[in-house]
Amino acid sequence: MKRVICILLICLLLCGCTPEKTSVRSELWAMDTYMALQFWGDDAQTALEQTAALLRQLEDTWSAADPDSLVYHPENADASQQALLSSLEALSTRTGGAFDPKMGAVSQAWGFLNKEYRVPDQAELTAALQARQWDMGAAMKGFAGRQIAAFLAQLDVDRALLNLGGNVQTYGEKPDGDPWSIGIQNPWGGDYIGVLEVEGTASVITSGDYQRYFEKDGVRYHHILDPKTGCPADTGLTSVTVICRDGLTGDALSTALFVMGLEEGSAFWRQSSDFEAVFILSTGEIYATEGARLSGCEYEVIYR
Ligand code: AMP
Ligand code: MG
Repeated sequence: MKRVICILLICLLLCGCTPEKTSVRSELWAMDTYMALQFWGDDAQTALEQTAALLRQLEDTWSAADPDSLVYHPENADASQQALLSSLEALSTRTGGAFDPKMGAVSQAWGFLNKEYRVPDQAELTAALQARQWDMGAAMKGFAGRQIAAFLAQLDVDRALLNLGGNVQTYGEKPDGDPWSIGIQNPWGGDYIGVLEVEGTASVITSGDYQRYFEKDGVRYHHILDPKTGCPADTGLTSVTVICRDGLTGDALSTALFVMGLEEGSAFWRQSSDFEAVFILSTGEIYATEGARLSGCEYEVIYR
């Protein structure tokens, strides 16, 4: 009898039918948004603690609310922080300036940084555009995803699923070999509008006009600004989701594609090979680049 049980156990192990490894989950408020973190593996608890510490540290270092932070004193950046600023400048160049990480004074003029919303006049906008003030808002959560994926590789963590305020970072493979399923938020509320499948470690990042906005005299003003005008980008889109191996790139590109709009954004995708995208128009139409594995909704495919 003992022998039969032993053989059965060995068979179970060989089939990979071992019990699920430790998993920990946590929710927290960081970078002015709700975050949900889940890790699987023997170092899951350590991973959670390191992730929370990293998010707090990034938040403090680049805080728009702290006059002593690096956004106002980039001259105090160390070598790795300077490398981040250089990467942001390179992404700005790559996107023809649609992603512009130096519009902090413009966001401030609209009240998006301190939530004291108002419509600035043209003179104020012109001065704010000229100020070239750093703002990490469009790329920091994606950068955090990149940093977290890098340190998870040093730990005994099999996989992780992180929702960093609408920026999803996956890490590792699911044990059953299935891809991760990531919902795209419905801009009009309610359930997800569609589901994206991604394999392994990836970032799925959405920029949407519904994520932060205010209304004044019946007009809606949202937080993604066109660097040419300093005003909310008005290209007929309500959201753009980018699927990218690198979080920082994906985050910068989601913002840039929103500013470019569907046509220019599709042309930009055709010249690139490091991301896929889903565009949702204000009319409700959905367009997805041919490599995006989208289901659960009707959409037009953007071909190369
Ligand atoms: P995201 O949600 O990633 O698209 O980032 C939007 C945030 O980035 C805004 O709240 C601003 O702080 C900042 N921002 C707005 N417009 C731009 C832009 N064109 N390029 C870079 N950052 C921007
Ligand atoms: Mg972004």
